Amino acid sequence: MDTNRIVKELGLKATPKRIAILEILAEAFCYLGPEEIWRKLQTRFKRIGLPTVYRNLEELSNGGVIIKIIHPNRKLYYYYCNNTSHHHHFVCIACRRVQDLEFCGEEKIIREVEDTLKGKVVSHLFQVYGLCSDCTLSHAVPT
Ligand SMILES: [Zn+2]
Ligand SMILES: [Zn+2]
Ligand SMILES: [Zn+2]
Repeated sequence: MDTNRIVKELGLKATPKRIAILEILAEAFCYLGPEEIWRKLQTRFKRIGLPTVYRNLEELSNGGVIIKIIHPNRKLYYYYCNNTSHHHHFVCIACRRVQDLEFCGEEKIIREVEDTLKGKVVSHLFQVYGLCSDCTLSHAVPT
């Protein structure tokens, strides 16, 4: 994976810290919290501050490659996804697996907003939380 190119395509400078954050998320295959990413970064950048991690995550997530996971526990997590087509995510709150969800109810929402509320839709946010197929089988209790 060419993380250097991905960062540049987001219109950002390919700094070592940005590339490291992207690599950590891409190799995780699950969502991670800013503090978890920060701890992993400390092996390479000893004096890196948590605000730097937050700022870089925010910049990376504006480009769409890093997805924000707004967890039901009200904490914010991040996930790497390079699927550029319009889609949403199904988030497992037990094992942290994230799966692409091709379903989008946008057309229905637009009709509802235009017909009932007489407004106009600009964008939408949609994320689904639950237990993935593996966790459903193992009867995991979400934490
Ligand atoms: Zn799961
Ligand atoms: Zn995705
Ligand atoms: Zn959608």
